Amino acid sequence: MTIVMKFGGTSVADKNAFERVAQIVAARLEGSPVVVVSAMSGTTDALLLGAHLAEEGSIDAAVGALAEVLERHKSVAAGILSNEQAGDMVAHIDRAAEDIARLLRRISEELQNRKVLKDALLAYGEMLSSNLLAEVLRERGVMAQQVDARQCIITNDEHGSASPSTPETYLQTQTALAPLIASGVVPVLGGFIGATSKGITTTLGRGGSDYTAALIGATLQTKEIQIWTDVTGVLTADPRVFPKAQTIKRLSYAEAAELAYFGAKVLHPKTIQPAIEGSIPVRICNSRAPEEPGTIVCAQTETSPRTVKAIAHKAGVTTVQITSARMLGAYGFLRALFEVFERHRTVVDVVTTSEVSVSLSLDDATALPEIVAELQQLGTVRVEKGRAIICVVGEGLRGTPGIAARVFSTINDINVTLISQGASSINLTFAIEEERVNEAVMRLHEAFFSHEIANARVAP
Ligand code: ADP
Ligand code: ASP
Ligand code: MG
Repeated sequence: MTIVMKFGGTSVADKNAFERVAQIVAARLEGSPVVVVSAMSGTTDALLLGAHLAEEGSIDAAVGALAEVLERHKSVAAGILSNEQAGDMVAHIDRAAEDIARLLRRISEELQNRKVLKDALLAYGEMLSSNLLAEVLRERGVMAQQVDARQCIITNDEHGSASPSTPETYLQTQTALAPLIASGVVPVLGGFIGATSKGITTTLGRGGSDYTAALIGATLQTKEIQIWTDVTGVLTADPRVFPKAQTIKRLSYAEAAELAYFGAKVLHPKTIQPAIEGSIPVRICNSRAPEEPGTIVCAQTETSPRTVKAIAHKAGVTTVQITSARMLGAYGFLRALFEVFERHRTVVDVVTTSEVSVSLSLDDATALPEIVAELQQLGTVRVEKGRAIICVVGEGLRGTPGIAARVFSTINDINVTLISQGASSINLTFAIEEERVNEAVMRLHEAFFSHEIANARVAP
């Protein structure tokens, strides 16, 4: 039985990080690993910046924006590989740089084709890192082979956030990977990228390498889907806001999905669904502390003794409130309302309704002006930008009285809107003003976890 091991961008940031990954994989060969790797950290951002500059017509600046990351790829090759291999790899990176420059020029010229060209450009990040990692693994004695993920992950043509087609992806992934695994070879694939059935490159959305790992795990029915990153598992809060956050040992799929959806960047929100479908545990581990067990996410739910397991948050949210007397006792109103969002391909996150009003939150407000214009035909519309969503998660919230009171009394001087307790009752989600989100997360964390942190410190 195989395992999928996905390494994020910071786990392959430089020479030392590649060395660590090689050691981690080499120590787990008995698990027949399939390796999925993100672009080296900063690469996707640099490629996107290049695309943006190219769109503005600044080709030289666009090419220049990529110089540092390409150099970093070369210095890994030169620092780890033997002379001959390093020479080949550097030549390969130079050829990629020429292709990238050509694509940037096309992006600036071919207005109609930009989305397609951008995905082709972004794919270089994961194609280069997977090529490099396969070489590094071979250098360290592991029988590894790069596999082009575009032959495995078959998607629709929604460029920038493509959806995989399960049957085709299943067939292609099995065909490409099963023979390699059977002969003891470690396949190394770039995450995040796929292709349409016509072979046109697509991408799965930012952070999508986790999703690739889950898709491959579900297809191959692996024993585990391992997400190797720069923190030890899923923590009780975002460590960038709350450095004292602690590792959560165990999460249910539902808890992990809520956390991922509402801002815990450590897991891409789409990762959980394939894992549930294949009943495959997901483990989140730290590539800098590989012996730590990290977090295991699986079907068995357990009620945490402290009831609340984690607090996730995401800023940059817009809330929209539609008030209309026409809603009163009418049917078809909500459908008309949500059709507006559907027409503008805009995802709605949290929804709450009362008899005469609907409040909802949006992550992506690009189409907001058009949406508001249409909503105004249904009722009075109020838009609030600069909001943040906080999501308090734990299986134990189900049926535990007093949690909401404790949450809201902890932040009683902060104006809370859009309160929702999801259908699964394992999360309490609400919106507040963005400027106070860090403060709110810290106060909630203190209220719900300070006792455990103090205990952990005095423990021998
Ligand atoms: P990778 O490059 O490995 O995919 P990401 O940057 O996408 O890594 O995700 C890991 C980061 O997620 C962490 O460094 C941390 O800053 C952030 N993060 C946000 N919320 C959480 C959380 N609840 N637990 C762990 N990490 C979190
Ligand atoms: N490289 C892609 C990104 O930065 C995908 C990933 O890292 O998961 O979004
Ligand atoms: Mg990530």
